[in-house]
Amino acid sequence: MSKKPLDFNYISYKTGGNLRENRVLAAYFPNTPIINWIIEKSKNGTGIYKFTNLDSKDNDENGDYRVAILSGVHGNELPPQIATLHLINKLNFSNMNGTVYVIPFFSPNSTMRNSRYFDGLDLNRYCDIPGNIGYDLIAILKDLKIDAVGDFHSTGPNANPGYESVMSSNRPSKLSAEIGEYISKFVGSRWIQYEMAGQAFKGAIEDELNLNGIPTVTCEVLAYEKHITNIAWQQSLLQMKYFLRFFNII
Ligand SMILES: [Zn+2]
Repeated sequence: MSKKPLDFNYISYKTGGNLRENRVLAAYFPNTPIINWIIEKSKNGTGIYKFTNLDSKDNDENGDYRVAILSGVHGNELPPQIATLHLINKLNFSNMNGTVYVIPFFSPNSTMRNSRYFDGLDLNRYCDIPGNIGYDLIAILKDLKIDAVGDFHSTGPNANPGYESVMSSNRPSKLSAEIGEYISKFVGSRWIQYEMAGQAFKGAIEDELNLNGIPTVTCEVLAYEKHITNIAWQQSLLQMKYFLRFFNII
């Protein structure tokens, strides 16, 4: 098994930031060589890191899945971003089937500032409009022939939705609903099911990916914005693990 990602690229060079300036988040960084390397890379933009089992054939025919895990779309939602780092540490050293692309910090600049926004924009909107990072993300994930995406967030108790949950839709990608139901069943997160993608949230990453034929779910854990607890990131990690388990990757 590789201890470093097999491949690494930038989705955007506009979004770089020194993550260690977010002291609340930095207190939770695992101190391992690969995580320190990712934190350095994040100074220059949004990185996408590829992990695959060298023994499994990374192609379209062998039946192994190719999925993506995303966190930090909202920079002030800290638990999923720490969960992703722990997932990366684990993926490096354990057996897996197939391929996982991980985007731990969608906007390092937002995370550095502990802000929901980048350049005044909510990055979980406008993904249907060219020029936005979310639009570029969707194009890249289509190019990579990704089978499914998990987008991981946190929500304050007074925010929307305000409780631990997993969101999915029935159409046009029925698999979105099946993933959502599976995660809800095994993790206990409340299942929020929409009939058709794009109706409740126009331009959201989950909705636009589903509309583009890539089954996607959004997972939320409970934590105040700009804050983090051990329970919250561990619960987010559990959602990620069951997302991967659905595809028999771990
Ligand atoms: Zn969010």
